[in-house]
This record gives sequence, C-alpha cells and structure tokens, in this order.
Amino acid sequence: MPTLEDLEQQLGGLDGRRILVRCDFNVPLREGPDGRREIADDLRIRAALPTLSWLAERGAAVTACSHLGRPAGTPDERFSLTPVAERLAASAPGVEMVENLRFHAGETANDAAFADALVAGEIVVRFGNGTQRAPFDGYVNDAFGASHRAHASIVGPPRHLPSAAGRLLAREVEVIGGLRADARRPFVAVLGGAKISDKLGVVEALAGVVDTLVIGGGMCFTFLAAMGHQVGDSLCEPDFIETCERLLGGGTRIVLPSDITALDAGGTVRQMGRTLPDGCRGLDIGPGSAAEFDDVIADARTVFWNGPMGLFEDERFAAGTRAVAQSMADSRAFAVVGGGDSAAAVAQFGLVPYMDHISTGGGAGLELIEHGDLPGLAALRDSPQR
Ligand code: ADP
Ligand code: MG
Repeated sequence: MPTLEDLEQQLGGLDGRRILVRCDFNVPLREGPDGRREIADDLRIRAALPTLSWLAERGAAVTACSHLGRPAGTPDERFSLTPVAERLAASAPGVEMVENLRFHAGETANDAAFADALVAGEIVVRFGNGTQRAPFDGYVNDAFGASHRAHASIVGPPRHLPSAAGRLLAREVEVIGGLRADARRPFVAVLGGAKISDKLGVVEALAGVVDTLVIGGGMCFTFLAAMGHQVGDSLCEPDFIETCERLLGGGTRIVLPSDITALDAGGTVRQMGRTLPDGCRGLDIGPGSAAEFDDVIADARTVFWNGPMGLFEDERFAAGTRAVAQSMADSRAFAVVGGGDSAAAVAQFGLVPYMDHISTGGGAGLELIEHGDLPGLAALRDSPQR
C-alpha cells in the first residue's frame, strides 16, 4: 500500500496541498449531564492524530471526513459530528471537517457522482473556516474501522487522486493482517456484542482460522437457540440458527456460556442457567461462564476479542465484560481488542495499558482476518501512481 511518504513524493511536496483524510470518527456517544451528546471514548480521535499532524506539519491543508452512526442518507442533528469537531479543534487545530458523510445517500450507495463531488471539494465543509471549495490534490485513508465497506468515501477518491494509507490504517493492517498470516497458537477469538447479523457471517470464516471460538454477548443466544434452549426475550437472529447449527457441528471448538445473568419480566436481575423463560432477557454471561472463559484465555497464545459480553453500560450487566477484559490483561497471550464498544469497555476498566493492541475496527478486523484484504485497502493499492 502507498504510504504517506509515497504521497508526499508523488505530489512533489505537501506544502499548500489540499488533502482529504477519511477518518473513522464513528465514536461511541452517550448523553452528558446537560442532556447534550458527549463522546464516551475518544480512542478513534486520538488514533487519527499522528496522520493529521504529520500532514499539517508539512504544510498540507487538511480536511477530515467521517461517518457517524446510521442516519438515513439525509441530514439528522442526532448524528451530527459536532461533538467530534469540537474535540478535534482542541487537539488538531487548523484541520477542517466535513459533516457526517452519511447525511448523503450516495455515501453508502457508493454513488460515483457523490464521490466526484467529494473529491471536487463540493461537499459542504461544516466545521473549520468552511470557505474553501477547491478540489483536493490527494487522499489519505486512515479509517480502518470503515475500510471493509465499499462506500463512496472509501473506494471513490483513490480512483481519481494520488492516495495513501495513513499511519493508523497501516499499523492496523500490520497487526490484524499479521494475525491471519501467523498468529501464535492456540489462537482464540472471543466474540460478543449486539451487531449479530453483521458478525455471524464472519464467524463461519473465522472458525477456519482460529482454534477456539468463545461466544458471549448478544451473539450467544442464537447459538443457544440452535442447541434447543429457550432464550426468552434475549437478542436472537432466527435467520442464523442454521448457520449456528452448522458451526456447532464443525471442527472448531466453540465455547458458549453455561450460565446467564438475566433481567426477568418483573425487572429483577437473576442468575440463570442456559434456559430462559419468556419475558426474561439475557444481558450478561454469568460468573461460571466468566471463569470458564478465563481458563480458555489463560491457555491461549493469541486472543482477538470483539464485542462486549453483555450490556456493560449498565453496571448490573458489566461483570462478564470486565472479567474477559481482566483475563486478557492477565494472560500471556498476544491480546488484541477490536470494536468501538469493546475498546470503550477496556478504557472504562482502566486496562488499556495491559493490551497489546487496541484496534479501532470491529467488523473491519473480523473481515481482514477472514479475507486477508478489505475493499478500502484494494482501492489504495489500485490508485493512480505516477
Ligand atoms: P463493538 O462496537 O465492540 O464492535 P457491538 O457494537 O457489536 O460491539 O456491540 C456493542 C453493544 O452490544 C453494547 O452496547 C452492549 O451493550 C451490547 N450487548 C452486549 N451483549 C448484549 C446482550 N446480551 N443484550 C443486549 N445488548 C448486548
Ligand atoms: Mg459498536
């Protein structure tokens, strides 16, 4: 992949050059004390700073762009990047920002006209001085967490502009791509979270790469349902039960929770086994499961974790996620955590220094392990070279 140095050389220097940087500022948000949305974890903003400041130090005029959440292709204040722009103005002064790319339907539709408008500088710059509307001279992708999507801002600009991978993207590809190539074994993937249909697809491919799959979070209930257990009102994807049955009958060891912390119909927190009655919602793995997961993680030489074990934002359902984070911190395995919410959980527990790599990507990391490549990386490799 072309590096920032390659881009500098290709453009004959960066001084005065207009550079569009695709970042992944899809940060977890929460409601602040004053009712305004605030950033729950700014890892993805801090992680973009090396690239942004490297460009700015060389005199480039930098414009950052990103998506945030899933607005319906039209402007929607609830998904405004304002909190990010405010944070960025403090740590990278002078960097302009475009408002949420997904305010335009062309972004996720990978519409060529939208990509052309973006490259031509015609998409409104909402933050910064907001006056420049000139075409860009170069493009940098530093959005690892979005590079598994063939969206306009990821694959469009490299067709037209000299392009490069930013520092963060390059590092992520080195570490996560390296897991696929030569992870030390046993290689364990710990999966959870809420984006079940997004992730169950890659679980099948992961099963061929890792030695053991440990499954908690919202994802485990589809597996438990496939084993014939009642899962009550827990998250469950009936369309994927067959996939789970196939995985359970396959050659990869799959470790599922043996107990569940649940909220019953009356609003009481209960410790349950694997079977949950109607009205009962499984919201965390139980203490027995946490101990079993710890044994697997302690024996591993490589652990890749994506997706919280439960609704950790609620302290009553945070124990499972905290336990897995602690197991990873204690294990001598090479410990990699990916995903916005998973990374936020590790930060909340104060365990960041004990991880070997905290990836800014969730789904992107899973897909890079699965395929060894991503649409955004291929686009950079294919970009015009002088
Ligand atoms: P990541 O951002 O790390 O990739 P996801 O976005 O897939 O992870 O999932 C994170 C969310 O999953 C968290 O908000 C968490 O509360 C939620 N979650 C985890 N387990 C459950 C569960 N059993 N029921 C409902 N939500 C869950
Ligand atoms: Mg998430």
